[in-house]
Formats: sequence, structure tokens, C-alpha cells
Amino acid sequence: NGIIHEGDIPKYEPTSIDQIDKIYTTLNERFNSGKTYSLAYRLYNLKQLAYLIKDNEKRIHQAVYKDLGKGAFDVSLGDLWPILNEVDLAVRRVKGWMKDESRIWDAMLSFKFMRPRVKKQPKGPVLIISAWNFPWQLTLIPLVGAIAAGCPAVLKVSEHAPSSSALLAELLPRYLDPEGYAVVLGAVEESTKLLEKPWGHILYTGSGNVGKIVATAAAKTLTPSTLELGGKSPVVVSSCANVKIAARRMFTIKQMAAGQCHRLCIRYAVSHLRHDATADQTIANGNDRSVAPDYVLVVKDKVDEFVEACKETLDSFFPPSPSPLSFLHTPQSSSMRNDADLDRMISYLDKADGEGKLVNRGELNKESRRLGISLVKTNLNGEGETGGLVEDEVFGPVIAIIPVDDIDTAIKYINARPHPLALYVCSGKRSVFTKVINETCSGSATWNDFGFATLARNLPFGGAGASGWGSYHGKDGFDTFTHHKAILEIPYLFEPLMSLRYPPLSNAKKAV
Ligand code: NAD
Repeated sequence: NGIIHEGDIPKYEPTSIDQIDKIYTTLNERFNSGKTYSLAYRLYNLKQLAYLIKDNEKRIHQAVYKDLGKGAFDVSLGDLWPILNEVDLAVRRVKGWMKDESRIWDAMLSFKFMRPRVKKQPKGPVLIISAWNFPWQLTLIPLVGAIAAGCPAVLKVSEHAPSSSALLAELLPRYLDPEGYAVVLGAVEESTKLLEKPWGHILYTGSGNVGKIVATAAAKTLTPSTLELGGKSPVVVSSCANVKIAARRMFTIKQMAAGQCHRLCIRYAVSHLRHDATADQTIANGNDRSVAPDYVLVVKDKVDEFVEACKETLDSFFPPSPSPLSFLHTPQSSSMRNDADLDRMISYLDKADGEGKLVNRGELNKESRRLGISLVKTNLNGEGETGGLVEDEVFGPVIAIIPVDDIDTAIKYINARPHPLALYVCSGKRSVFTKVINETCSGSATWNDFGFATLARNLPFGGAGASGWGSYHGKDGFDTFTHHKAILEIPYLFEPLMSLRYPPLSNAKKAV
């Protein structure tokens, strides 16, 4: 019901700089002790992470509500279940992932006898820097990968989700090995201090501008890094698309960070739904993920039909005031992070209104910083559009519809911009999807639905080019934090063969 008991959320206090040095030393000692290598240690901490979430689900709901105004259902489905899902996979598979990987089959005959293989070794203590918009998932899914890989980890959580960050700082040492895993609270100063140190790996989630700072700092200590950045995620709507389905699916991800395709998620979702009568009222505001659709390239003969389908969908999802189900009357609607972000959205809409391009203005409540989903229709092929909505990462509840001549123009438009994190194609024919994915580059691509790639624990999650490098989730998270060491064994028994290359070279050897 959105009621916050102040006492349930610990106070946010930045970690002192001295403490950061101590944490670094402790984690290195833990790693050097070899304890984090064992399967038992990894399994224990993975399971403890699941208990941390399950035991404290209500407090986590309260913290995220306080930070971002997100409803309980949205938090469980979008933030917590993906973590449990990843823990579930890691617990089942980590033993296999840790095993040496034989490379005997592709080896030359003489090398086959040397037992060529790849040994998986933890890279060492790692640094995970996360963003505010999914404060639990963006911190703890990377942690699952680090634990599975046998790496101690420091979690530098976001200052823009202070309640979640403070709660995690309280809970983590109670559940996981406090000498192996630690939370650092704070902002730029604390991040900078952490980035001065050499790590086994750094995984950063956030904006591209800070990503450049992180990559530069990592280069100075020669630390490998993974950057999970933002950008604009386009949708392509072809002339054979079912626009009603496209609109419904698109606004579902824009309004709720979800996608419950896994057994575990469904089990939790079902049990949770039984207790949460307000679940169907939960509304987020589109700043939920950087994989949220950002703009829609619609083939021109389909534009009017698509705009109509969008309006109908928004009316049915969020009936306008004074309906008790309207956006403004929904107690668990998600808010914008701060006034500046809300003002940015309003200025997009005011500008579009002035130019006669505003199709739908979402309901606004400045006090709670809530804005309903809004639509803007730009010029054909985006011509003459500069700056603002069409060039910035929107990261909010505003979608630009850009009519295009055809699919080739849509592809050209995407390729003229930095590579997106996610790309979506709505079409009745798979061949259209295949053409778009073959001719563009993006972190992920999905045909006819939205956001599912982030929940597929068997697929790498990451960007391309400006939307980031490296990936994690599932086995890819394990691999990110694992050093793949090449191993060959050449026993003394092989000496007759090996001695052939010793100098001086005889004529017979030279002939060989
Ligand atoms: P943020 O402000 O929470 O910053 C992210 C982290 O960087 C925080 O922990 C913060 O303390 C740290 N940080 C900030 N300035 C720093 C500096 N100068 N030096 C070192 N560390 C610093 O989050 P944000 O950047 O506003 O996040 C929004 C962006 O993140 C958007 O672009 C969004 O698309 C992207 N994002 C990407 C993903 C993904 O999975 N690829 C997920 C969520 C958000």
C-alpha cells in the first residue's frame, strides 16, 4: 500500500575513504587464502544471496518505493526475480562451468598428447559499479557471476537509490562472507578511490560519459573491464506488422519492467500475485531500463494505424482521469529520478507541442514526479530533426514515432547512429527481422516483443560500440570474471621427441 516505515530502512552514510582501503586489503587477503576457489564456498554464497532476497523482500520493496516510487510487483518481477533466476542457474551449473575444458579435438597430433585444456581461474577481487534505475538487479546479477567465478567483490552502489543502497550495505555482510563481499556507499569520490586500485575485473553499469572515465581508470591499472552503457533502443515497424499487438507489447515493457518467461519467475509471480491485489495497477514510467524502446521507425503506410493502436492501448492500459485506475490515481506509479529528469521530459513535450508534433501527452503530477507515457510524431525519415528527443537517450516515458519510407531507410537511420543496446522489429514476416538483424549491429535484437533478452539467462547481456562492451548474465557472467588459462603438459617421457629441436641443428634436422 506504499506505506513506508522509516525504521525499516537504514540511514545512508557514505563509506569513509580509509574504510575503502581496509575493504580492499581484506578482500585481497580472502582471495589469497584460496577460500573463494572452492565449489562449496561459491554454492554457499550463491544460496545465501537468494535467502537475502527472499527473507527481506518486503524491506526491499519499501526501499525501492522510497527511492523510485516503484510498486512491489514491479520490483519483484523486474528487479528481484531475475536475480533469483540467475542464482538458480548458477547453483545448478557452476560445478560444470568450473571444470577444465579439454581442447584435445582440434589439436595437432603431437599436441594431443600434451593434454591441451583451458583451466578456469578466478580473476581476483572485482569491482562492480551499478546504476540507480534497477538498484538490485544491476548490482546483484553481476555479483552472481563474480561469486560463481570464485571472485571476491566490492559493490559500489548508486547514490541515486540511497535507500536500496543502504539496505544492501546492511544485509550483505549478514548473509554473505563479510570478508569476501562488501558494499561501498558514496558517489564520485568513493568511485574514484576504488578505480585507482588494480582489480581482477571492473563491471560498470551507467551512462557512456562516466563509462569513458571508468575505462580510462581501468586502462591505467591494466584492469579488464565490462561496460554496460545506455543509448537509444529503436523499434522498427514494417508494413506487415500487427500494430495492435506491437503497441500492447511495447507499452507493456515501457510501463513495467517485466517478462516472466522462466519457471522460477512464474512460480514466484504466481505466489506473489495471490497476495498483491494492486499488481495490475502498477505503472512504471519508462525510465525503467536502457533496453526500453526509445523511438519507433514506422513504415509510412502504417503510421496512422500504428498511432491509433498506440492511443487505444494507452487508453485501455491507463484510462484517463477521473477513472480510479488512471495513472495519477495509481498509488504505486513509478516516479522520475529527480526534478531535472522530469523537466527534461516536459521540455521535449512542450517543444513537440509548439511544432504540432505532440500526439499524446501523458498525465502529469509534478509533486510525485510522475508522467504518463507520451507520444511525439516527427517528420518523415526524421528529416530536419536535430537534438532533443531524437538524438538524446530519452530514458523516460516519451516515445518518438518516426515515419520512414521503407525498411531500408529504417536500417540506414539506425546505422547512422551509435549501436543500440537493444533493437526490436515488429513484422508479420521473419524475413524482415532477419534482414534488419543482418544489416545492423546492436547488443541484442528481438522479433515482435520487448525486453525479453534481459531475462534470458542463457544469453549474453551487453551492448555493442557506444552501448558498451563485454557481457554478463548466466555463463557469460561466470566467463567475464574468469581467467581462461591455457594448459599444456609435456612430461620428461616426451624427451626423445622434444630434443629434436635442441641446437646445434644437424643437417638431418635442417632438412626437417
Ligand atoms: P548513476 O548516476 O547511478 O551512475 C552509475 C554509477 O557510476 C554510480 O554508482 C555512480 O556513483 C558512478 N559514477 C557517477 N559518476 C562517476 C564518476 N565521475 N566517476 C566514477 N563513478 C561515477 O547512473 P546513470 O549513469 O545516471 O545511469 C543511467 C545510464 O545508465 C543511462 O544511460 C542508462 O541507459 C544506462 N543503463 C545501462 C544499463 C545496461 O544494462 N546497459 C542498465 C541501466 C542503466
